[in-house]
Amino acid sequence: RMLPNTEHPLVSFGQLLEGEVPSRREELIYRNYMPPPVSPKSCTEKFSIDSVLLRVALYKGERRQAEYEVYGEQTLLDLRRSLSCATTKILKWQADELKRQQVENTVRRPSESALFYIEDVVYLCGEEDLAKPLLEWLSRRSTACPPTRDMADTSFEDLQLQLGKQYIFMHNGDCEHTLIFTRCWLTEHTADRRRSLYPRLVWQAKDGAAKCHVCDKLAATWEVHGDKLADTSPCFLCEQCRYQWHYARVSEGGHALRSDYQVYPVIT
Ligand SMILES: [Zn+2]
Ligand SMILES: [Zn+2]
Repeated sequence: RMLPNTEHPLVSFGQLLEGEVPSRREELIYRNYMPPPVSPKSCTEKFSIDSVLLRVALYKGERRQAEYEVYGEQTLLDLRRSLSCATTKILKWQADELKRQQVENTVRRPSESALFYIEDVVYLCGEEDLAKPLLEWLSRRSTACPPTRDMADTSFEDLQLQLGKQYIFMHNGDCEHTLIFTRCWLTEHTADRRRSLYPRLVWQAKDGAAKCHVCDKLAATWEVHGDKLADTSPCFLCEQCRYQWHYARVSEGGHALRSDYQVYPVIT
């Protein structure tokens, strides 16, 4: 029997069998993945049993970052909403920090626009036309310009895709990724067909997390800002090093030694 998912961020996103303990890997996937907002109606609504499912991998350079499953009726915009990378997190953090510090932001920040380049067609979303530099570059080389279409109007069923072929995804201004469709199959009877679950994150790279600046071994769990005793700001620390540095020994009460810094959990 499957147990229902709960909304707690530390509870696995994957379905657990009764008595099963969530694995750290699934916890990481859940914490890293914010499913796109869905209307209450579509939460339980299922897609057709005749649907095609696709598996798509997102790369940065040669590094595979994540893989998602989508169903045929979903649009490129649905996929775009699920795709993010370290740049997305950094930009969000910067925006939050500027707001928190109430700093007047004079630097132009990348727009929400994005682009797919699939089988010689450019698919766009957002107000900024990210295809402009590409089209200008192509016209300078007197190459025929590819047609442009709206992501929201294009479903995976509309596309003619080749498995294993490299396509382009671009967002956050000029953050470019390779997109590869790796599998295509018909829905099985046992598949979870709830629309709200898709695009579904099915794999995610584990490495790439910041390491602790002190021991240089463990993954950082805390990001310390403005600590005058640290070499850098932000300074990344693992659980162990942070408690040794910022807290008294348990035998001495385990209290915080100082409070002249800010500390945030590492966004992984
Ligand atoms: Zn990116
Ligand atoms: Zn450490």
